[in-house]
Amino acid sequence: MPAEHSEHRGLYIHIPFCKKKCGYCDFASYDNRQNDIGTYLDALEKEVQLHKRLAGSFDTVYIGGGTPSILSPSQLKRLLAIIKKMYEPQMLREFTVEANPESITAEKAEILSEAGADRISMGLQSSKPELLKKIGRITSPEKFAKAWEILRKAGFRNINADLMTGLPGQTLKDFEDSVDFLIRLHPEHISLYPLEIHEGTMLAALGMQENPDGAADMYDYACARLPKDGYERYEISNFSIPGKESRHNIHYWLQEEYLGLGPAAASYIAGERRASAPELDSWAEALNKGIMPAYSSEKLEGRQKDAEKIILGLRLTEGIEISANIFIEFKDKFRSEIAQNFLDIRGSRIKLKPEKTYLANRLFLEFI
Ligand code: SF4
Repeated sequence: MPAEHSEHRGLYIHIPFCKKKCGYCDFASYDNRQNDIGTYLDALEKEVQLHKRLAGSFDTVYIGGGTPSILSPSQLKRLLAIIKKMYEPQMLREFTVEANPESITAEKAEILSEAGADRISMGLQSSKPELLKKIGRITSPEKFAKAWEILRKAGFRNINADLMTGLPGQTLKDFEDSVDFLIRLHPEHISLYPLEIHEGTMLAALGMQENPDGAADMYDYACARLPKDGYERYEISNFSIPGKESRHNIHYWLQEEYLGLGPAAASYIAGERRASAPELDSWAEALNKGIMPAYSSEKLEGRQKDAEKIILGLRLTEGIEISANIFIEFKDKFRSEIAQNFLDIRGSRIKLKPEKTYLANRLFLEFI
């Protein structure tokens, strides 16, 4: 990729290992390859070398997956030492690590905190054990609360929790109870995900169906309830107490640059979007030979780039500023009935009308 530098750039590291595959998950993660974590780290070290010209240009780090907390304490230390070559600690505005309740320990939390991680993201999904079982999660609300305590004791004051909506058999009351459970723990950030059933997953094989109407009711409930508890919705599905918005994810929504390392990781640098091939073996093999692993790429430019800027930016509650050129380029779209219905346009700032947020995909289709 061309060595173009932007002031605001995110670094993402994909850890492709999990203890057990959740029933709905189609992410690039293996649940039977923990013995290959050493090989993965060897290859990651080489991938860091290949991108060293970007070292020092990141202001956020996000270790995701997969399940980063599945790494043993010594593997975690090695991972942190490898990626440390890519950033200047004093430049970081946020350093997030995803964790699962059943694999985080006091020792690992300490290691992460000492290495400078200041934000943890952890999935609760639901506080109802029977629903967790249905979707193939191996955790429980008790383990989640215990992990929460460990993280707070280690000094983490910025923790996100994920909640899912539209689960099979999930009632609005189930969801309300999950929100109550979470609010008692005072998370700084909450992300909502409607259940999607993807081909090849366990839930698809079981013939389970999505529940968009139920998910919409739960979403409306969250939008009405969470502000009363001090959370602002700053993105379609993300709520935070003021000042704790995810800076890393804001890079994505503002179409800013990010570098992704690890199999299946996506990057956006100098107008080029890349996604590494998802297979661990071929990714590691290429790096061991000193070559760039296989990837798909696409140059984002012109109308496509501007359309994506609009779609991503509209996800943010405050919307985005767009230039006069973009207004002219899409004037037919902005004058359309659907845009009139969905958008609040004030000067050069466009944003979604709050009551249209959940249906935003209908508008986004117009711009694709
Ligand atoms: S823990 Fe996350 S990445 Fe791993 S299988 Fe479950 S949903 Fe997928």
